[in-house]
Amino acid sequence: MQRKSYYTLLFLIFLSTSTSIPNFVTAREDTPKIQIVTSVGLLQDFVQNVGGDLVDLTSILVEGTEDPHTYEPTQSDITALINADMFFLLGRPGLEPWWGGHEDDGESEGGYEEIILLDNDDLVIITVMNESMTEIDPLLGTENTHGWMSPLIAKEMITNVYLGLLEQIEPADGDELTQNYNNYLAQLDSLIIQLEANQSKYEGLKVVVQHPAFMYLFDFLGIERIGAIEEQHDVEPSPQHIQAIKDLMLAENCTTLVSQANLDQDVILQLARDTNATIVWGVPLLGMDGRDGQSIDTYIDMIEYNIWALDNPETPTAESGSIAGYPNLWFGLGFLIPIGLVYVNTQRK
Ligand SMILES: [Zn+2]
Repeated sequence: MQRKSYYTLLFLIFLSTSTSIPNFVTAREDTPKIQIVTSVGLLQDFVQNVGGDLVDLTSILVEGTEDPHTYEPTQSDITALINADMFFLLGRPGLEPWWGGHEDDGESEGGYEEIILLDNDDLVIITVMNESMTEIDPLLGTENTHGWMSPLIAKEMITNVYLGLLEQIEPADGDELTQNYNNYLAQLDSLIIQLEANQSKYEGLKVVVQHPAFMYLFDFLGIERIGAIEEQHDVEPSPQHIQAIKDLMLAENCTTLVSQANLDQDVILQLARDTNATIVWGVPLLGMDGRDGQSIDTYIDMIEYNIWALDNPETPTAESGSIAGYPNLWFGLGFLIPIGLVYVNTQRK
């Protein structure tokens, strides 16, 4: 009996490993799908829209609260890259620091690129962004790498996705790819028209941002960023800098802060209370929560959500537990009292 269940177990393991290679089961009969890994969910969306049925996709970052600027890949990320035909990455400094350094930021050593190419030297690497798609951020004095937040730059990125795929697909699939590409560009053009229709609404709007992710979208919409809270990513801003931001907001009559869910919220909530400002909860990456806690899974939904968020800023409540700490403590104690009573009751019986 024991031996029998051992073989059953082996058979189950075989089943589970064989079903984890779906392209053998679901691939079209003529050509196998191209196995593609993308660094972020945003690129997964771009490649899916252009590649359609010709591609099979995995993303390293599923995002949500994961931070691309500090992410470290898991073993399964590395395995996916070793088994992939193509890897699409954004490719600007600081966006995929785990992959490899950039000569221009002095971290050309290390990274997983060398390790993965040792095991998979056929891997085709497509860098979707280039220097011409980004600008120096006047608030920071350094390159602002979040170019995809402008749909005009997104269209250029999608063209690079298309050209990259065109080189790898079978010539017979070229028409299908071109059709997908043109359809997606047409959707982006509709999005751009929609944004342009909103531009006049933001005339004169001044904001302070926590992280510089929205520069390209705000430039497109005509929203003026007067200050940034984050001087360095993942480094708490100094009290002097926070005070300078408060003074600036007062002087410029600015009452709108822009943040995002994957950053330290205590700083922004406190600043909003101190300045009577409202907070726009923006989304610069896929996989983050949008309206009603629904995950945002496409680029177009993300941009549309940000327009909604600008129209629906949040006023932070004074009694929020994340600042004072005490309300959380009392809720915690309140929760313990009934448990204590139940415990006392059962001991008596
Ligand atoms: Zn960022």
